[in-house]
Amino acid sequence: MRWGSVYELGWITLAALAAVALTGIGLGWAEATLLVLCPLLARHAWHLIRLARLIRRQHRLVPPFPKGIWGDIYRAIGQYQQRGRKGRKRQLRFFRRFREAANSVPDALVVLDKNRRIEWANPAAQVLMNLSWPRDEGKPLLEVFTHPELADYICAGEYARPLEVAPAHNRSLMLSIRVAPFGERKKQRLIVGRDITKIFHLNLIRRDFVANASHELRTPLTVITGFLETLIDSAQTPSNHRRPLNLMQHQAERMRSIIEDLLTLSRLEMDEHAIDIAPVDVPCELEQIVADASALSGGRHRFSIDIDSDLMLLGKDSELRSAFSNLLFNAVKHTPPGSHIQLVWASTASGPIFLVEDDGPGIEPEHIPRLTERFYRVDKARSRASGGTGLGLAIVKHVLSRHDARLAVASEPGQGSTFTCHFPPGIALTASQLERRRLRAATSA
Ligand code: ADP
Repeated sequence: MRWGSVYELGWITLAALAAVALTGIGLGWAEATLLVLCPLLARHAWHLIRLARLIRRQHRLVPPFPKGIWGDIYRAIGQYQQRGRKGRKRQLRFFRRFREAANSVPDALVVLDKNRRIEWANPAAQVLMNLSWPRDEGKPLLEVFTHPELADYICAGEYARPLEVAPAHNRSLMLSIRVAPFGERKKQRLIVGRDITKIFHLNLIRRDFVANASHELRTPLTVITGFLETLIDSAQTPSNHRRPLNLMQHQAERMRSIIEDLLTLSRLEMDEHAIDIAPVDVPCELEQIVADASALSGGRHRFSIDIDSDLMLLGKDSELRSAFSNLLFNAVKHTPPGSHIQLVWASTASGPIFLVEDDGPGIEPEHIPRLTERFYRVDKARSRASGGTGLGLAIVKHVLSRHDARLAVASEPGQGSTFTCHFPPGIALTASQLERRRLRAATSA
């Protein structure tokens, strides 16, 4: 309790004593009490009305404060107001700093409300997305930044992968658009547009170079292998030339495999978004792949096959064939004779999986994150000896990403390896569903 309140108590005690004294001069108790309490009540009422008015007019309560309990109340409210003012100033300073930082970001930042209307945008959005704040405030984003793919992307609500677009107002630009939902029930969205023009062009140059170089090498190599075959088959070829000729043919075959894999990768990269989706009879494809793997193994491996014959996929057959065979052939190529290889094609709660497990030498943990890089091999000499190009897992990764699937690798040295392709449930199809689709297509045709 502060001194003001003590004084107040003192006043009340004095008033009580005065009332007692007044009864002594002939006044009744009630009149005497009223007489001494009236000025006290009037003072309280005056302070109460004054305080209500000050608060209503949002006045700052500053000293000098009245004496007594009202002084305590004024002081407490004054301190509370001061704390509030300081908090608001701090918030304002933080907001200004945040705005300055956001304005200096080279990427376009656009805040959308829950109706996808523009709430705020930084200056970079003017150059990159042709929208300016506050001019475009309240306008729908898709009205200001028109792009058919962006409309689909925002509506789909699946923002794991960025969208690459060339904006209509400047076709020489290439933007990578990311969407981050935030706020209450994640209804608001932050759009981040990054200028990736340079990286995009560099990638284009690299991709074209690899594709063109591979294409140019293909024809001379076909000629060389053709002549080598003729020389090897010819009876006039001296016997001491046969070994070097066979070696040359073996190396030419390796070069051909590398060129074919590079061309496959280029093709996968070139039509990154355009994938002709059709039902793929995976069990039927796997039957052929298993037969090829058995031929490659030549009876040196034990196979366990577990295929759900009712499970199909919506995808591209040639690409899926290439990914599945790469994984199964790897298990044959990178494990010693006598190894056990298990293949599983099954439906799980999180979608279809394709799994290849072996009990071979396994892979050290430091190599696992790099396996899908081009030409990355754990043991270069062994991979070359087994006819590997070092591009197989890069192709698998690309094919899976085009099917919204992912590759998981689990391995322990000395224990073996497991390569699992996880497909999204949305592209799974049963045989009866496939039949219904075919019937529907036939009747509509
Ligand atoms: P490669 O043509 O050499 O097989 P990949 O890209 O298919 O190229 O594989 C990359 C490397 O991963 C291989 O060189 C090999 O070292 C390792 N690898 C792949 N599969 C297995 C496996 N089942 N067991 C052990 N190592 C493997």
